[in-house]
Amino acid sequence: MQDKTIAIHAGYDKDVQATMAVPIYQSTAYEFRDAEHAANLFALKELGNIYTRLMNPTTDVFEKRFAALEGGEAAIATASGMAAIFNTIANVAEAGDNIICANQVYGGTSTLTAHTIKRFGIEARYFDVHDPKQLETLIDEKSKLILFESITNPSIDVADFDHIVAIAEKYGVLTAVDNTVATPILCKPLELGCDLSIHSTSKYTTGQGLAIGGIVVERKALVDKIKGNARYAHFNEPDASYHGLIYTDIPLPIFSLRMRLALLRDLGATPSPFNSWLFIQGLEHLPLRMRQHSENGMAIAEFLESHPKVLKVHYPGLKSDSNYLDAKKYLPNGCSGLLSFEVASFEEAAKIVDHTELFSLVVNIGDSKSIITHPASTTHQQLSKEELEAAGVSNGLIRLSVGLEDSADLIEDLKRSLEA
Ligand code: PLP
Repeated sequence: MQDKTIAIHAGYDKDVQATMAVPIYQSTAYEFRDAEHAANLFALKELGNIYTRLMNPTTDVFEKRFAALEGGEAAIATASGMAAIFNTIANVAEAGDNIICANQVYGGTSTLTAHTIKRFGIEARYFDVHDPKQLETLIDEKSKLILFESITNPSIDVADFDHIVAIAEKYGVLTAVDNTVATPILCKPLELGCDLSIHSTSKYTTGQGLAIGGIVVERKALVDKIKGNARYAHFNEPDASYHGLIYTDIPLPIFSLRMRLALLRDLGATPSPFNSWLFIQGLEHLPLRMRQHSENGMAIAEFLESHPKVLKVHYPGLKSDSNYLDAKKYLPNGCSGLLSFEVASFEEAAKIVDHTELFSLVVNIGDSKSIITHPASTTHQQLSKEELEAAGVSNGLIRLSVGLEDSADLIEDLKRSLEA
C-alpha cells in the first residue's frame, strides 16, 4: 500500500460498532474475564489490555498506523517527543554507558544529553552529522546508541545516513533517528538501514498544534541485531523486574516490548487516548500536507535567498545549500517546511520577528499556521557559546516553520518585516 492509503486505513479494523472514525477509548483500565485471563495477560501468555499506562485501543491504532507509514514492525507512543527520546535512551543505556549524539539537534535533546542523562551516569559524546568518520573514534564497548536527526532543527542539515549506518553496523550499535521534521512521508530512516525512528508527534503529525506527543518506531527484525550482542546484555539476560523474562526469547518486537513492559510501566510517560485520537486525525492528511509544506518552504527559501538583507538561507532544497545532494538522495519527495536564515545581528533578528503578522512568534514547528522563532533568545537560550556554535545557531539566526497559507501572502509578510 502507498502512504496516502496507509495514512487513512492502517491499524484499524472497525470495532463492534463498525464506526468509520476510530473511537476514543477513554478508559483507565479494562475488565479481565476471570483470574486466569488476568494471570495470562500479566505473564504474556495472552496479549490484551491491562491498564492505559501500558496500552490503550485508540493508541494502539495510532501506533500501528505510524509503524506502517515508517515501514517498521512496531511502535510505542509516548506523552511527548522528549519522552520518546528519553525512553529510547533509557531502553538501551544505564550508568557507566555512553550514547553518541549529533551536534546538530533540537535544543531539548542537547540539554537532555549534555546534562540530564549525565545525572543518571550516562555520558553523551558528540559527532558532526556531516563527518560521520568521527563516530569511529567515539564508539567503545560501552556505546549503546547513535542518535541524530534526519533534518536537523534548527540548523537544517541533512544527515549522511549511508555513512552513519555503515559505521553503526560495523560496531553493532543501535541507531535512532529523530525524524520529526521530515516525517515518514519525506524520509523513511528504517528503509535507509536505521534501527529506530523517533518523532515528536506534537509537530507535523497533529499538523495544527493541537497536542503534545511522541512515538518510537522499531524496524523489522531488530532482534537479529540485539540477540547475542554483548552491548545489549539486558535484552539477552533474565529481567528481574519481569519474573526473569528474557526479551530475545519472545517472538515479538523486543525493543518496543521492553519499552512498554518496563519503561511505560515504571516511568509512565504514556499519551492520553484523546491525544492519540488527535494524532490519528492528523495522519490522515499528513501526505497531502507535507507536499504543500515542502512547496511553500521552497518558495520562501528562494525569496529569502534573493533578499539583500539576508546573509544566508539554510534550506536543503536550494541548489546553493551544502545539503542539496544529500537532500536529493534522502528526501526525494520534498524538504519539509522548516528553514532558517541569517541576518547581521541579534537586534536585526529581533526586529524582524517583532514585525511579522502572518508568521507568529512561537516556539513550535509543524503547524498549519506559519511560525517564526529566534533560537538564540528562546529554544537555545540555555546553551553555552560553544554549544550554540556546535549546533549551528548564531545570534542572527531566524527559524521559520512555513505553514499551509498561500506562499505569496507569506512572502509579502516577510518582505515587509525585513524592510521595516
Ligand atoms: N525533536 C525535535 C526535532 C523537536 O523539534 C522537538 C520539539 O520541538 C522535540 C523533539 C521534542 O518534542 P516535544 O515538544 O513533543 O517533547
